[in-house]
Order: sequence, then C-alpha cells, then structure tokens
Amino acid sequence: EQKQTINFGAGPAKLPQSVLLQAQKELLNFSSTGISVLEMSHRSSDFNKILDKTKSLLRELRVCLTHFSLYRNIPDNYKVMFLQGGGSGQFSAVPLNLIGLKKDRCADYLVTGTWSAKAAKEAEKYGKVNIVHPKLDSYTKIPDSSSWTLNPSASYVYYCCNETVHGVEYNFTPETNGVVLVSDMSSNFLSRPVDVSKFGLIFAGAQKNVGCAGVTVVIVREDLLGHTLNECPIVLDYKVQAEMDSLYNTPPCFSIYIMGLVLEWIKNNGGSAAMETLNKQKSAMIYDMINASNGFYVCPVDVSCRSRMNVPFRAMGKKEGDEALEKEFLDGAAKRGMKSVGGIRASLYNAVTLEDSEALATYMKEFLEQHQ
Ligand code: PMP
Repeated sequence: EQKQTINFGAGPAKLPQSVLLQAQKELLNFSSTGISVLEMSHRSSDFNKILDKTKSLLRELRVCLTHFSLYRNIPDNYKVMFLQGGGSGQFSAVPLNLIGLKKDRCADYLVTGTWSAKAAKEAEKYGKVNIVHPKLDSYTKIPDSSSWTLNPSASYVYYCCNETVHGVEYNFTPETNGVVLVSDMSSNFLSRPVDVSKFGLIFAGAQKNVGCAGVTVVIVREDLLGHTLNECPIVLDYKVQAEMDSLYNTPPCFSIYIMGLVLEWIKNNGGSAAMETLNKQKSAMIYDMINASNGFYVCPVDVSCRSRMNVPFRAMGKKEGDEALEKEFLDGAAKRGMKSVGGIRASLYNAVTLEDSEALATYMKEFLEQHQ
C-alpha cells in the first residue's frame, strides 16, 4: 500500500519508501535468522553484523569533498557511537565529557536558535558558559564572526549547525583558533558533505535525515576521551561507550538497524554530495517562491543563513499576521496530503523528494494567485 501523505514534518520525519518496505519485508524473519531484529539479543553475532554494517556505512558516507576532489571518510582517530537520550541527552553529555578538558571548565557557545540556547543552559550546570556574541533579539541570523569573543582557554566551542525551529543554518565552519569544535548536526546530518577532521565532536539524532527516533550518532576524536566529570551518568560517558563499542548497555537495536537501511539508501543514491545537490534544489524551489511573492510569503531568516532543511515562512496576505489566511493555507495543504506541524514550516530532509517540494511550491503559487 502506497502512502498518500507528503510528510514535511520537522522530525521524526519522512523515511525513504524503499526503507520502510524493506523493514516490513524483514520484520518477522531478518536475513534468515528466523527472528525479528526487534527480538534479537544485542550481544548476538547477528546484531553485531547490523551494528558493524551501520558503522562502516557511516564512516564511508561521512565524506568530505576537498578542493582537490578527494573524498575522505571519517578519519581513523574518531570513534563512532550510537547512543540513547536524543539530541537533548547530548546537551548534557557534551559538557559532562568535555568541559573538563581544561582546568577552567569554561565553554564557548554560539546561541543562534532554541536548540543551541537549550544546550548552553544545560552546560551551565557543569561549568562556565560564555555566549561568544552579543545576544540576539530574534533568531534570524548568525552574528558576524567579527563580533565573536572567543575564549582561548575554553574547553570547547559549541554551535548548532542547523537550527530546526528557526530555519537558521551555518554554511561555514566556525574558526576557533585551535579550540575543540563541537556541533549539533541533528537536523542536517548527512545532508551535505562535512570535513569531520575540523571537529572534536559531532552529534546528531537520527530521526530527521538518517533514520527514526531512538538513536543518536556521536562522532568524537579519540584524544578528547577520558576527561569525564565524576558526576556523569555512565551511559553518557563517551569513554565507556567508545570502549564498549556502544554496547555498555542495551542499545536502541531496531533504530540502529533502520539507520543502516537509510545509510545504504543514501549510498545507493550518490552519498552526501548527491544529497546536498538535491537539498539545494528542493529548498531553492520554496525560497524562490517566497522571494517572487512580493511579500505575500515572508521568511524572516537572513538570506545568508537560510536553512536547506527547514523553511519557516508566513503567509502575510495584505495585512501582517493574518492568522485566518495562514490557517486557510495549512488547511489547503492538508487537503493536498501535505503534513507539517507547528506553524508554516516545511522540513525538506533527505527523504523528501524533488516532487514533494515541487508539489508544495505549486500549491504556494496557486494559493498566492487565489489571494492576490
Ligand atoms: N538539536 C536539534 C537541532 C534538534 O532539531 C532537536 C530535535 N528536534 C534536538 C536537538 C533534540 O533532539 P531530541 O528530541 O532527540 O532530544
């Protein structure tokens, strides 16, 4: 049975149809084992194969396109872990594991949206947090790096690469002058190539671009392990989890399996470079529509940092904040089988197709013509 709804939800989000079908096919009897992945011991050799496959796909896919057109995998001195607790769990795990890297227990945070704000607040429990730029009145831009005051004795610099709620995305990697860089890539992970070697740590919940809820990927440089604060819960201790290959306790087995299927799908569809091309095209369709609407649709985000993943916008019509108009827009979208949650925000993660985006752009155009 084909799904009818076009899912523009912010996460958990759309999964590739082929992945859902494969999971369905294998649900009762995985790879002739006679049991389901849902019933499998995490210590079994069958599950270990799933874990290994998922990990090596990730290492392979986390590629970087350098100016010399060389593709690089995740470097060998990085550990890849599959943890629980979601992105929010990592807001605590990051300071618990890394704020002790230097004796001052200070960390620098860029706060450019709700998710980095939450992370900074959590870090304050464990050390001193310095917000490196003047406070923003609204989360619609990334303050120019000339206004940042980075602390050279900070244990790390933290930023959220794509602010899911506000639709603000960094299209550059912050320069930290040698201080360890940490990034929350929960909502743009594997949506474009990234040079992992520039980071001390990257984490990402799977439920947007690479799978379903339940598993969070953590990629960490080995030399940063072992500075964990005493009060760190053992399941969040990167050193322990790295040494135990994410199997200190029962991992989210099924979510890891689903992630493996999605990674395979990404690989078969050209890897993160191909995802980037598609994601640019998909988001350009919506932004072009907004730009050409003469103020009928408004995206509050500065053009320099508009997210390719989450496009928040308003339908203004003739008067500002016309809620009836926005409700009509959303009702009409729902009638066409389009689904989103929380205002008008189109999330265009990897599994959202060009056709899905096109359907939205076409609807936006028709709605505009009807209401002009
Ligand atoms: N960081 C970002 C960028 C997110 O978008 C989200 C969730 N939408 C989180 C962290 C929190 O993730 P979780 O709900 O898995 O804790």
